Amino acid sequence: FRGEKPFQPVARAQYPQPKLLEQRPTELLTLTPWLAPIVSEGTFDPELLRLIYQPLNLTVGLTVFAVGKYLGFVQHFLESAEQFFMQGYRVSYYVFTDAPAAVPRVPLGPGRVLRVLPVQSHARWEEVSMRRMEAISRHIAQRAHREVDYLFCVDVDMVFRNPWGPETLGDLVAAIHPGYYAAPRRQFPYERRHVSTAFVADGEGDFYYGGAVFGGRVDRVYEFALGCHMAILADKANGVMAAWQEESHLNRRFISHKPTKVLSPEYIWDDRKPRPPDLKLIRFSTLDKNARWLRS
Ligand code: UDP
Ligand code: MN
Repeated sequence: FRGEKPFQPVARAQYPQPKLLEQRPTELLTLTPWLAPIVSEGTFDPELLRLIYQPLNLTVGLTVFAVGKYLGFVQHFLESAEQFFMQGYRVSYYVFTDAPAAVPRVPLGPGRVLRVLPVQSHARWEEVSMRRMEAISRHIAQRAHREVDYLFCVDVDMVFRNPWGPETLGDLVAAIHPGYYAAPRRQFPYERRHVSTAFVADGEGDFYYGGAVFGGRVDRVYEFALGCHMAILADKANGVMAAWQEESHLNRRFISHKPTKVLSPEYIWDDRKPRPPDLKLIRFSTLDKNARWLRS
């Protein structure tokens, strides 16, 4: 695995002073009880982060799956990523697909590459989405561990709408699901049956995280995805499919393996919902797609 980058001094720069006694920069919680930052607009200084991260010459990977009809999302996804995802950094896109020849060749900026990886198609959409953890962990072990420092794994039926930068980088990164950030945890749609390895008891849970975005340092993502894959396999051996497939397993695992950085729903919004005033900047959002058409 690519090692941790050596510490870099911050170049001399002018930026607003942080003030201990100043009122909160955002109405949102900024720190979890286990001291992981919760990232949202107003909590960080993009210019200062650029000064810190740009000299590290990092490469950030981004995986998406585009199997069957989901190939239709790739063009828009990549075009928006070229505009907003990790601008000014080296980026490797990994597109997993059952139709490699049909992946659109979107023009990419300097230092940015697209790699197409063949995967099998499956008759059931649940199977496609469940198989992602397996394919991601295998791909990291075989190849991505040499090519990227950080890796994000996201849904393809989404687009970037505003900058997604180094504020998102961390050892293990989760994103708070846009549908449940205001709900009490007993209402989270966790897997509640004991028979599943994704089982979560009533008194457990921090945030309900979205299955459409997770990431971190490539070695930690490997460990995380492999752990989820193993749990999915154990369920399968018992003929069990968790309530929300791999999202249930991801949520189970994030309870015991806490993320070191949490992204606010700005980073995993949903176009079908109006933006609440507390979220200042929608950066990445699910398109309003016709689910029945896609899954038929
Ligand atoms: N996916 C795919 N082909 C399929 C089903 C799913 O490529 O037939 C991939 C695609 O990247 C998609 C992700 O799996 O974004 C998760 O599925 P989906 O977006 O339908 O789940 P939802 O966001 O509705 O829970
Ligand atoms: Mn999706």
